[in-house]
Amino acid sequence: MPTKSANTATTGTGTDTSSTDVQSKTEKDATLKMGNANVEKSKMKNAPLHKFFVDALKDIYYAEDAIVKALENMQEAATTEELKDAFEDHQLQTKKHISRLEKVFKSIGETPEKKKCDAIEGIIKEGQEVIKSTEEGTMTRDAALIIAAQKVEHYEIATYGGLVQLAITMGHDKAADLLERTLQEEEDTDYNLTEIAETYINFEAEQEN
Ligand code: FE
Ligand code: FE
Repeated sequence: MPTKSANTATTGTGTDTSSTDVQSKTEKDATLKMGNANVEKSKMKNAPLHKFFVDALKDIYYAEDAIVKALENMQEAATTEELKDAFEDHQLQTKKHISRLEKVFKSIGETPEKKKCDAIEGIIKEGQEVIKSTEEGTMTRDAALIIAAQKVEHYEIATYGGLVQLAITMGHDKAADLLERTLQEEEDTDYNLTEIAETYINFEAEQEN
């Protein structure tokens, strides 16, 4: 009965191997496991999506650093205390975003590194233009500064939103959690800026001539 003997042979293979020498097999398995882990790790690091993820982290790491400096200028340029305070608060948060990103890099076994982000350079430059083209001490300046700041927030929201989803997909739970916290703060900031604009700044700016 060829079928039955083939079946027996298949079932028997595992039993035969494990009964040969239990200890040496355990050791062999452990070595194999370690080897696999290393192979898995280097495979992960070479995966195109992982490389993209790390690149995007470097991009936003650079951007956050540039934002800290930009918020300083925007705070100085703002007319109302309310907006100055909002910029100051978010500057402190941005510093937290930087240290959080460092934790994200570490959580996936990568070294924190900055990569020039042309997009944020452009958005910040536009913010500086807004300061130059509006009069000091006016509500028009604040209305314009709020929009400039929201452009920064929206860039961050797009980046962090995408990175959170990628981290979840790749099973980087800790990274996903850290990035999610920052995303939430960026969204809150965007919402607060709209509130500030709508409370009175936009209305008063409209009265200016
Ligand atoms: Fe940020
Ligand atoms: Fe932000």
